[in-house]
Amino acid sequence: MKYSFSKRIQKTPKSFIREILKVTQRPEVISFAGGLPNPDLIDIQGISRAAQTVIEQDGKNALQYSTTEGYLPLREFIADRYRKRYDLCVKPEEILITNGSQQCLDLIGKIFINNGDAVAIERPGYLGAIQALSLYQPEFFSVPLENDGPDTEELKQILSEEFPKLFYAVPNSQNPSGITYSEEKRHEVADILNEAETLFVEDDAYGELHFSGKVMPPVKKFMPEYGIMTGSFSKIVSPGMRMGWICAPEEIIDKIATSKQAADLHSNYLSQRIIEEYLRTNDLDAHISKINAVYKSRCDLMLKLMDEMFPEEVSHTTPNGGMFIWLTLPDGLSSTKLFEKAMEKNVAVLPGHPFYFDGGGDNTARINYSNADEESIRKGIEILAGILKEQLK
Ligand code: PMP
Repeated sequence: MKYSFSKRIQKTPKSFIREILKVTQRPEVISFAGGLPNPDLIDIQGISRAAQTVIEQDGKNALQYSTTEGYLPLREFIADRYRKRYDLCVKPEEILITNGSQQCLDLIGKIFINNGDAVAIERPGYLGAIQALSLYQPEFFSVPLENDGPDTEELKQILSEEFPKLFYAVPNSQNPSGITYSEEKRHEVADILNEAETLFVEDDAYGELHFSGKVMPPVKKFMPEYGIMTGSFSKIVSPGMRMGWICAPEEIIDKIATSKQAADLHSNYLSQRIIEEYLRTNDLDAHISKINAVYKSRCDLMLKLMDEMFPEEVSHTTPNGGMFIWLTLPDGLSSTKLFEKAMEKNVAVLPGHPFYFDGGGDNTARINYSNADEESIRKGIEILAGILKEQLK
């Protein structure tokens, strides 16, 4: 190697998704591989009006440097929404605005993880978290995900043997599996982590993409001292604005702010101002209902077609929100092969192995439904069904 790169970057995996998106985004490809919110559901006019108002009425401030913690009215909006949606009471001072919620993972790694520290993560786990935390060279331990949340016996064992610094998880409509934790599991996880005095990093990127039934309380509600939540406007307003946040006890926010100052001084202030103006002058609930209605109908259609056409040996999760369905193929079938065969027919799925930091998962695949229209779903699922049947012969 010509350049002497740090051990930390050499040990960090490249995002497999970002690599394969280069091929799957060709216009002729029906792609279920990505994780993009549907662009037709971005309120371009509303955001454009908000941008115009902010720049015209307060451009001098909105285009200036700002505070590391973020625009206070936006932090107040988030605290207020937590209270209304989750009955979770936090102060605006416990919220810090980040450049997308992905940045939270980097900042959490910076302030908590020393080289070699143990970190617990779901199996399968969010690839972006594996990547972000890998930069701090932890030793990962995986907690298998069951249909209603993590295997709590495994979690207890990891806590008692490895003393991880934190457990990172996505309890609502997880990426990649689409699984949502049951209320019982939420209580159980909180009890176990409280007892062990271990941090829970609760990534709630998909919390608002909830299709039906009761909205369950976040795990943080039962562990105010050890619970850290991360949230995002990417899926409900716009991913390109790169607006997310971290919610944690003030002592943690203080250290996050120091590490953020070193990283980028503060999050894009113009984006913060535009999004706050947008949220204050538009009906976010109505907008999210629209998104959920579309995603639910696409998800239902996909599940119905899978049930009709896929060989019965192939199982799938049944999400109640979010953007992904998770497939498990029978023994002997490989999702990498499925990916290759499907690409020959211009259909893209995401092989599951990148979501397993320690290998495995080659019989799993992630299917995205938020960004494909009904015709593409019908055509794509039929092609996948044909390949799966062929492979099972
Ligand atoms: N967490 C999860 C679970 C995600 O799926 C994503 C987006 N793929 C993120 C965090 C990061 O999203 P953003 O930075 O746009 O908020």
